[in-house]
Amino acid sequence: MSRIVFFCIPAWGHTNPTVEVVRQLTAMGHQVRYYSFEPFREKLEAAGAEVICCDEALPPQPKDLDKKVGRDFAALVEMVTDTTLTLEGKVCRELEEFKPDVVVSDSVCFWGKLFAKKLGIPYVCSTTTFAFNQHSAQLMKPKAGELLRSLLGMPRIGRKMALLRQHGYPVEKVTDLLQNDNETNAIVYTSRDFQPMAETFSERYAFVGPSVPEREEQVPVKSRPLVYVSLGTVMHDRKRFCKDCVAALADMNVDAVLSVGTAENLKTLGQLPPHIQAAERVDQLAVLRRADVFLTHCGMNSASEAIWYGIPTVLAPQQSEEAAIADRMEELGMGLRLNAEDPDHIREALEKVLADSSYKERTERIAKSFREAGGAKRAADYILSCRKIS
Ligand code: UDP
Repeated sequence: MSRIVFFCIPAWGHTNPTVEVVRQLTAMGHQVRYYSFEPFREKLEAAGAEVICCDEALPPQPKDLDKKVGRDFAALVEMVTDTTLTLEGKVCRELEEFKPDVVVSDSVCFWGKLFAKKLGIPYVCSTTTFAFNQHSAQLMKPKAGELLRSLLGMPRIGRKMALLRQHGYPVEKVTDLLQNDNETNAIVYTSRDFQPMAETFSERYAFVGPSVPEREEQVPVKSRPLVYVSLGTVMHDRKRFCKDCVAALADMNVDAVLSVGTAENLKTLGQLPPHIQAAERVDQLAVLRRADVFLTHCGMNSASEAIWYGIPTVLAPQQSEEAAIADRMEELGMGLRLNAEDPDHIREALEKVLADSSYKERTERIAKSFREAGGAKRAADYILSCRKIS
């Protein structure tokens, strides 16, 4: 039996893909300890992990983290550095007692990586976005606002890097934390076919595909196509966009489900025509199973889920990371970029994707690569192969 320690930031999008991996490892008889946060405890314990919650180590406003990742990079670095320094005494002591054979840490949960390096424990990077190296980094073209925020945030980032160095961590620049090289062991929850610039990553990168549960239920017979719209769980303040979608869908011969994120967004929609349903949140996998087209913000999870079920997309990215995913989906012919967020463009894009079966065919091709990537079982085997040889 081996001892495996996971670390993750408090964000569902980063935690969810690891849950099935934990389940696999514990089912194989290994002991898994997971440093996480209170909202994630139940799900991780159900997968068999011993969960240690680090909520008290988080600086104020942890609930904003999901919103800040990708929008205010300096805030992320500050939060991560402060959390690292608050946790280091207690967690390093516990790790020395627990003696893990390997540490698995999320790609932006830098404290896991830093502790593993400090204590000389083999480290595996768990990557829920596209894998990131000096080549693929160039694909993440920040929007003007993001760029400005990053530039303004540089002094704050520099101060935190200096603080980490004072504590003995060998970090010269922020890319030392962020970027991996071809010597890094990494699990990436997508396939080599979907990963841009896959040829620049060594065999140490295990592209295991996403872990999307198969759904057994039959797709009901439909009299017309089903459109699903969601901009994810983070970009909440999108009243105008929600209204434009309803206006676009009003005269279309389709059924539609809108996931609008908040009660406020829902309220602004008022009375809807019978063929359009809207909710704050829906069971996305159940809806996607029945959908014919998905208007998505291209969050990694939504994109992966759409591809897994072979659903073609209309692409409406909101941030640079999502834009990189949208670019790749467009490049592979799986989706059509929304050129402007107004009712006419929305209707036109949805109709085009519904009318052209090649979007679906190309999506199904990548879906096949996901299913063949090995999933949580391959991720678990890979983690075990990275253990310290004693
Ligand atoms: N999701 C859901 N119901 C909704 C909207 C989203 O279950 O009404 C889930 C979706 O299936 C996905 C996650 O929330 O797993 C959203 O993650 P993603 O990376 O796509 O976007 P984010 O919300 O992090 O921007």
